[in-house]
Amino acid sequence: EAKSSGRGQIRYFNNAMRKKLKRQADIENDLQHGIKNQEFELYYQPIFSLNDPKVVSFEALVRWHHPSNGLVPPSEFIPVAEQTGQIMELDLHLLRLAAKQLYAWHCQGMRTRITVNVSSRHFASLDFVKYIHQLYDDYDLTAGALSLEITESGLIENLNLATKIIKGLEPLGVRLYLDDFGTGYSALGYLHQLPIHVLKIDKSFVDQLTNRSNPLVDAILSLARSLELDVVAEGIENPKQWALLKRKGCQYGQGYLVSKPLAKDDAYRFYHDYQHEDLMV
Ligand code: C2E
Ligand code: MG
Ligand code: MG
Ligand code: MG
Repeated sequence: EAKSSGRGQIRYFNNAMRKKLKRQADIENDLQHGIKNQEFELYYQPIFSLNDPKVVSFEALVRWHHPSNGLVPPSEFIPVAEQTGQIMELDLHLLRLAAKQLYAWHCQGMRTRITVNVSSRHFASLDFVKYIHQLYDDYDLTAGALSLEITESGLIENLNLATKIIKGLEPLGVRLYLDDFGTGYSALGYLHQLPIHVLKIDKSFVDQLTNRSNPLVDAILSLARSLELDVVAEGIENPKQWALLKRKGCQYGQGYLVSKPLAKDDAYRFYHDYQHEDLMV
């Protein structure tokens, strides 16, 4: 009796494993085609100042129009792309899409900024600096128009090289945002050594800000002040969170309360309906 149910569990486990491996192999194959076939689209979520309030930038978030599976969210394929290394090619493709969008918007009189999420793996070769310089050139980007987000969990191995890369991007006005801050395991020394510019407080901390403040949020804000970093709070869903963050001195925010990530035309409309900061002034 016990034996047979044990065997059943093994069979169940094997099936689940097989399904998972098959799904990963499928994603790996489909990713390759997807890049070639232009199946990826960037959505744009406004980042706004909490004081004024006005839109200061947009974060680009990828969506995959899969030919048979419909719209696939990044959580389903970014981790696989990280594992297979395809993230390198995908990120470069998406960076180019974002640069093209900035150019298109600029031609329409909308001069804003975009931040793009990239894997920390790019911070291991100076080729990345060349690539970004080329994008600024190809799409005639204004200084600071395109910036980067990396997550705290993607550990950077060579801090000296990473620093060189970040410094190599500074003449373009590229700023480095440390995403999901507070959820990773990086030591504070790491923060101090990398020349990053902005901390993004992870949504999980903002979620806890309902009726009272959170000592971790206070600590992050005070750390940012001493290191002279800007702070963006992500995942603001209600006015109480906004008010609390503003009172604590957090300058910027992002979240469904103001807007979900939007397709490019909706982002264009949103920008004009809302107060905004013009990159040229
Ligand atoms: P992230 O960079 O931390 O992005 C924030 C995520 O939170 C986005 O999910 C966004 O849609 C969602 N979000 C924003 N505000 C709210 C809110 O108020 N409430 C709730 N419930 N959610 C909110 P998304 O678009 O599914 O992206 C998930 C993650 O996938 C991103 O986390 C980022 O790490 C990664 N990612 C997205 N696009 C790219 C990309 O182009 N390249 C790379 N390498 N990673 C990407
Ligand atoms: Mg991000
Ligand atoms: Mg984030
Ligand atoms: Mg996050």
